[in-house]
Amino acid sequence: EIAALIEQQRDISDWPAYLFAVEDNLHKAGLLLNAPIEKGAAIQAALDRGLEATLAELDRSGLRGRGGAGFKTAAKWRFCAEESAERHYVVCNADEGEPGTFKDRVLLNMHADQVFEGMTLAAAIIGAKQGFLYLRGEYLHLYDKLQAVLEQRRATGLLGDNILGRGLEFDIEICLGAGAYICGEESALIESLEGKPGIPRNRPPYPVTSGYLNQPTIVNNVETFLAAAKIAVLGGDWFAGFGTEKSAGSKILSICGDCARPGIYEYPFGIAIEQILHDCGATDVLGVQIGGPSGTFISNQEFKRQLAFEDLATGGSFIVFNNSRNVLDIAQNFTHFFAHESCGFCTPCRVGTSLLKKQLDKIIDGHGSAGDVAELESLCQLVKNYSHCGLGQTAANPILTTLQRYPDLYQNRLKNISYEPGFDLDGALE
Ligand code: NAD
Ligand code: SF4
Repeated sequence: EIAALIEQQRDISDWPAYLFAVEDNLHKAGLLLNAPIEKGAAIQAALDRGLEATLAELDRSGLRGRGGAGFKTAAKWRFCAEESAERHYVVCNADEGEPGTFKDRVLLNMHADQVFEGMTLAAAIIGAKQGFLYLRGEYLHLYDKLQAVLEQRRATGLLGDNILGRGLEFDIEICLGAGAYICGEESALIESLEGKPGIPRNRPPYPVTSGYLNQPTIVNNVETFLAAAKIAVLGGDWFAGFGTEKSAGSKILSICGDCARPGIYEYPFGIAIEQILHDCGATDVLGVQIGGPSGTFISNQEFKRQLAFEDLATGGSFIVFNNSRNVLDIAQNFTHFFAHESCGFCTPCRVGTSLLKKQLDKIIDGHGSAGDVAELESLCQLVKNYSHCGLGQTAANPILTTLQRYPDLYQNRLKNISYEPGFDLDGALE
């Protein structure tokens, strides 16, 4: 049955990422990925039910932000709606830059209509007339296709001056990023939308208060809008019926690395890591990086843990490593990534990530001596505690999470300098 499903999905143009519905979770895997709602159905349902009642429905669903942080979606939309201002804005964050994450690319390729529907729903609730899809620069190949979807929605009265003939006004513009990872951080993204360099702002104020052009703005992930549209049609109780008490619904994962069946998976929250590994055909596993480089590296002793905001949260990245991999190489690769992507605005991150890279390289190359691992760790704390935004605050995670689990691997790379009685240090120096 699984093989048949894979065959069925092989014609998805977005190869090599393919939808893979898992046998045991087939009905649950259909929450968001399968059976998308009819065009216009969410807007229609929301207008019929009433916007306040729809927001209450979203609240009841328990939907939390799917970009990774898990802030309650209904609360964010309500905060924004309650801000009195000249204009409100809706932004869809499709600057999917977390290494190992590619689910938003597939969602936009397969379900763009439903994502735009979710944005329109949000606009109706917060009172916005303008929305933006901030598309990762590397996803340029999706641009024409997405524009065509928007055009079609305008032509069928689902965007424009009088949506569904119900007096609702809203339109969406697609803006392309230019390759900076930091522009996935919402306030840097807003700066970029305004035509400025993508440097994160101080938060608070959060975008719901002061976002695009300092007006109240909601920024949500692609998957969040997709889920919101479906909840508007099927109701909050339907969604809350899946997942755990604190993490309702399902999570779409991008699974890659050392496994036989990489791809896009959807699971109810609360699923055990070992189940996911079984489904994607991962064997002889050393560990899994969950939530991208800024997330957590879990070892093979922890596979009973669950995917959920209360245990292991992720925006979608799930990278499998088998026993042929070296934990230090993984930490090194991610540490180099952060040093490269630091926007350079604040010193703890600009200088700190470079120092982390140098110190880690020194240890891995076998040039470290006693005390160097402790120094690496205190540097990690400094970068974590004093950086301006989430990038710097999580840049040390690859080192910290692996250091905590595999301290010996670090210690064993240090130069083996031992003092032997009778050794003439002064003579040796001469
Ligand atoms: P955050 O917790 O600071 O904020 C999450 C959301 O809630 C934001 O939209 C923020 O505006 C809102 N918010 C938080 N407190 C609020 C308040 N008091 N009032 C109103 N709104 C409030 O998290 P963050 O720094 O925005 O995002 C970090 C997450 O992004 C991490 O989980 C990381 O894994 C993830 N991430 C995802 C990708 C990706 O490609 N999807 C890339 C990098 C990082
Ligand atoms: Fe830029 Fe890093 Fe500072 Fe964030 S923490 S503002 S990415 S330098």
